[in-house]
Formats: sequence, structure tokens, C-alpha cells
Amino acid sequence: MADIFKIIFLIFASVYIVQAKHEEYDGHSLYEVKVNDLVQVDELNAIVEEMNLDLWSYAIPGREGLILVAKNMKPLFENAVNKIGVEYKIVTENIKEKLELEDKLLADAARSSNFSRSGGISLDVIHRYNVVDRYLTDLANRFPRVVRAVSAGRSVEGRDIKYLRISSNNFQDRNKPVVMIQSLLHAREWVTLPVTLYAIHKLVIDVTEQDLIRNIDWIILPIANPDGYEFSHTSTRMWRKNRRTGFGVCVGVDLNRNHDFNWGTASSNSACSDTFHGPRAFSEPETQITRNIITEFRSRLSLFIDAHSFGSLILYGYGNRQLPPHALILNTVGVQMAQRIDAVKWPSHRNYRVGNIAAVLYQASGGSSDYVQSMIGRGLSYTYELPAYRNLNNINGFLVDPAFVRQAGFETWEGIKVAARYVVQNRMYFKNQTDDFPMFGY
Ligand SMILES: [Zn+2]
Repeated sequence: MADIFKIIFLIFASVYIVQAKHEEYDGHSLYEVKVNDLVQVDELNAIVEEMNLDLWSYAIPGREGLILVAKNMKPLFENAVNKIGVEYKIVTENIKEKLELEDKLLADAARSSNFSRSGGISLDVIHRYNVVDRYLTDLANRFPRVVRAVSAGRSVEGRDIKYLRISSNNFQDRNKPVVMIQSLLHAREWVTLPVTLYAIHKLVIDVTEQDLIRNIDWIILPIANPDGYEFSHTSTRMWRKNRRTGFGVCVGVDLNRNHDFNWGTASSNSACSDTFHGPRAFSEPETQITRNIITEFRSRLSLFIDAHSFGSLILYGYGNRQLPPHALILNTVGVQMAQRIDAVKWPSHRNYRVGNIAAVLYQASGGSSDYVQSMIGRGLSYTYELPAYRNLNNINGFLVDPAFVRQAGFETWEGIKVAARYVVQNRMYFKNQTDDFPMFGY
């Protein structure tokens, strides 16, 4: 008898859990905002900051922004925006419905995808931490000559953070440039995971371009923020930070503001903010891992790409508007990557834009690509902002439609390859890196 009650309880409990998911987003609306000039940009940002709103994408003249506003804040927000004369419209009335739709689409895709056919991992699905972690270990076991899985350390909650070293000669050829790609430093940016998984697939399983593995040693880190990533699956979909506690009621450090480059100068010191920089630079185990990898491979690291979402942007340093001495090269290679992606992207998506992060978007400090840039001299360091997928269901922004997952991996890889081959072709320039290098002229 007791068992029956237990079963009934469990059934009710699981129904409750399903229904309770995304409850915190009920009635939240997604606003599209259009700014005309930089004065409005500043005014709008002040509103976002003051009301502690969830800024999905930053509005700049010529590019609308997206802001998620809780139900009870809507009148206040609309009032404030009216006052500064910024145009707005609601693109999604109740985001909770879209989150439920996203769950359904992703679950359907996971059911119908054939995992083992390719001998790897399905590339049209958003995988959870455990699946990816197991996959990395499996690959290292299956391809010991080319792949090594490195446990780089543990996250705040104790998850193993693994990266792959992919090399035709176990990183022994000191003349080869090293290229590093990472994804999911920001938890909710799920569509970035296919970027690293696709790269791994093309370097290990479905190798069609031998030169990439012959000429380059690769470091690929798919889940840079595993705790935040899992939390965004199990609880709060729009979670961005890691899961550090100890700051009172608020949780998490923005890992992309925690690196030791201009730390704390253009970020928040409030633990409740989504851009909280943490108690000090590299206070978090997740960012310490980046630091250790960069320290280890610094002399050969010629290209670093940190995949984020969203906005169709390729950004380079620095976040304080200062340009590295080789900004012209960063820009040129960035444009070449963007042109390649634009050539194969879906027509409904906007073209990529390339530029200095502070010039294109906003000032930011403690970012991973800035830190890496400051460490690798002439090397090339970029932040990618992947496209926001749009379809009839108005799945948008951070939400992922599985229809786009494989394409996201494919088209971004097309771009990355351009820069990877650039550093191979210009090896002499990237070798002999020093911290203060002469101006480079074309
Ligand atoms: Zn991000």
C-alpha cells in the first residue's frame, strides 16, 4: 500500500516539476528597442542598469536591441523608454511560452537524432554536460594518437572541466601554431556548444582537410562554465554566470568579467548583477583554467576564439577602446572570417559585423579574449557572437531551434578555418612573439 502512495506521490511530484519549469518567466516580455544616437544608447543603458533588467542584446544605432522585462516592471519600463524617446515594440508577449516551445523542439530533436551513426556525437542536438564530458573521454580512448582529454580542474560545484588536445604529434612540434576554441563561458548561450563540437568532429572523426591537423595543434574546450550551463538547463534558462555562492542572496560571477585584464574597470561590483566581476581577478576556478592553459601554451598560441551568442559579430580587443598594435591585422582577418561565414550563412540572417568590442558594442573589462590578447602578443584573439536564429515561431535570441544547431557549427567552423590557415601561412610573423613588438606594416 505504502508503495502505491509513493508512486502516486512521485507521479504528482513529476507533473508539478514539469509545470513549474520556467514559472519564474511567466509574463516576462521581450522588447525590441531602437536607438537613434549615442545619447539614447547611454540613456537606455542607464534604465537597464537602474531597473536591473535582463539585457539580451545591446542596442546601437542601426541595430535594434532586445531586453527582457518582468511583468510587474513593464509599465515602469515603457514609461522610462517613452521619456527618452526610444522606439520599442514587444516581440514576445510571454517568454515562458517560448521557453516551453524550445524544450519541446530540443526534446523532439534529441529523440529523432541518431547518435552512433557518425561514430561521434549528433551535431543537431544541444547536449548536456554529462554527455559531452563522456564524449570527450571516449574520443581520447578511441583516437589516442591524435586526441588527449585533459582534466583541467574543477568548477565551483566540482564538475570536471575537460578540454581536448588534438595534434598529429602530441604537441611535440614546437614550430606549429596552437589554436584554441572555447564555448559556453556564458551559461545560457547554448548555441555556442555546437561550434566546439563541430570543430572536434571535423578534426577527429570526419577529417576532410588534412592540412588543419597537419599544421596546427588544437585546444578545444566545449563547456567552460559547466555549473552555470547545467543550472540553465535544470532551473533558470537565462542564467549567465557561474554558480559561486557566498555573496549574500545573489549567486554567481560573470566569468567573462573575471579575467585579469583591466579587471573591475568596466563591469559591476554588485553580486546581483549579471556582469559581476567577482571579488578579484581570477577568483574563479573556471577562469583560472583559462589562465593555466594560456600560460602553458603562450609562446605558440596564435589564435584564440571565445564563442558567445548572440549578434552576428566578430570582436577584438580591447574592451577599453584601446587597440592592440596589430589591430589592423585583427580587423583584416576578422573581416575575412566574416565574409566566409556570410557566404555560407542562411539568407535570413544578417551579415556579420567586425570591430573593436568597445567601438562596436560597449566597454567591458576582464573578458577572456582581452586577457588572452594581452598574453599572446601578435596572436589573434576574438570573441564571436553567433547569430540569433529567427523563425516563424519567433524563437529568438538565446533560445535555440534545433533546426539551426548543425548550421551554427558548420558556418562558424568555416570562419574559424580562415583565421587558422592565416596563422599557418604567416607562421614566421606569429613565431618570435614578444610582448612589445614593432609596428607591423602591410
Ligand atoms: Zn556571452
